[in-house]
Amino acid sequence: MRRKLVIGNWKMNGNRAGNTALLSGIVAGLNDAVGKPCADCAVCVPAPYLAQCQAELEGTPVAWGAQDLSVHAAGAYTGEVSAQMLVDFGSTYVLCGHSERRAYHAESSELVAQKTVAALAAGLTPVVCVGETLAQREAGQTEAVICGQLQAVLDVLTVEQVAKLVLAYEPVWAIGTGKTATPEIAQAAHAFLRARLAQKDAAVAQGMQILYGGSMKPENAKELMAQPDIDGGLIGGAALKATDFLGIIQAV
Ligand code: 13P
Repeated sequence: MRRKLVIGNWKMNGNRAGNTALLSGIVAGLNDAVGKPCADCAVCVPAPYLAQCQAELEGTPVAWGAQDLSVHAAGAYTGEVSAQMLVDFGSTYVLCGHSERRAYHAESSELVAQKTVAALAAGLTPVVCVGETLAQREAGQTEAVICGQLQAVLDVLTVEQVAKLVLAYEPVWAIGTGKTATPEIAQAAHAFLRARLAQKDAAVAQGMQILYGGSMKPENAKELMAQPDIDGGLIGGAALKATDFLGIIQAV
């Protein structure tokens, strides 16, 4: 049985006071829940707030991490943040290849693969994001696109390394648009990704947590996460309000 995982991607949102309110709201909600939450949860925050997460989340059921990292370990790379720096502040996760990085920072699948390697080398859990644009879906290219994005990562990793990944399917047309993929569309993509993973290693494919991302909210989370190959969510907008984020965790 794969454990469900719900990760909030704050993107470029937040401020110190607001973060404290949001994080304490999430922690209080989890503590109030009857019994142990049946999903793991984490927040991926802007790098300047990692220290705040470490101070406010240590010892709680909420893990934290970042939204990007450098492929380099250290040196003259102005503006970059290394995997080891994320580890220094207690990070567990780091997003690799979010569609906003691919689109606005021209990150290629090969660069995403290198970032995944850098994250693993530091002991972080990379959350590798794949997903097609609306134009690609309408042109019937969904499987080719997400397969290519996944394959670039699989090509540079051993089976043991692949076993340490989390995968996220985030159709670009569903991100921040309110247009959630139907459970059937999402399930089909997740099953396709798992089948591709199985070509690398069947057992690793079975154990892989594949998260869905794109306008997931408390109202649609239950049906999405009931699909056999959807193992949780990568949440944008709804991760910025404690009640919404908790509502998604409770939907598991
Ligand atoms: P929304 O939940 O706001 O659509 O964002 C999804 C996402 O991009 C998470 O990484």
